[in-house]
Amino acid sequence: MATIDYTDRRRMRLDVEFYFAAAHRLPRYEGPCFRMHGHNYKFFVTVEGEVDPATGMIADFGELKRVVGELVLAKVDHRTLNDTLENPTAENIARWIWETLAPSLAGLAEIRLYEIPDCCVTYRGPGGRG
Ligand SMILES: [Zn+2]
Repeated sequence: MATIDYTDRRRMRLDVEFYFAAAHRLPRYEGPCFRMHGHNYKFFVTVEGEVDPATGMIADFGELKRVVGELVLAKVDHRTLNDTLENPTAENIARWIWETLAPSLAGLAEIRLYEIPDCCVTYRGPGGRG
């Protein structure tokens, strides 16, 4: 069997999917979402970078899961999002996740947050293009 060992540094994206359940209300919205209600949120954390020739990886999936669990999921799962954000729209939650993870996650490239299965927002950081 031939052995392939990639020694060049190709760029790749790595995505990990997370879930949490939370309550929120939108205090500036005129409609049903003004009232307290809940969602089963889903979000993807995307990291971009060069594949390390020694490890063959951009990042360690397990380490990424640990960081997101400690910094994000522990603060939002089965909680009221208005305790963290005054106006917890999907856009503001995605930005909060980014700002919470950015100092601890090298190569953070994108947060994609689904509030309901067919509606999501994508944030690529302060220099991103939406
Ligand atoms: Zn809602």
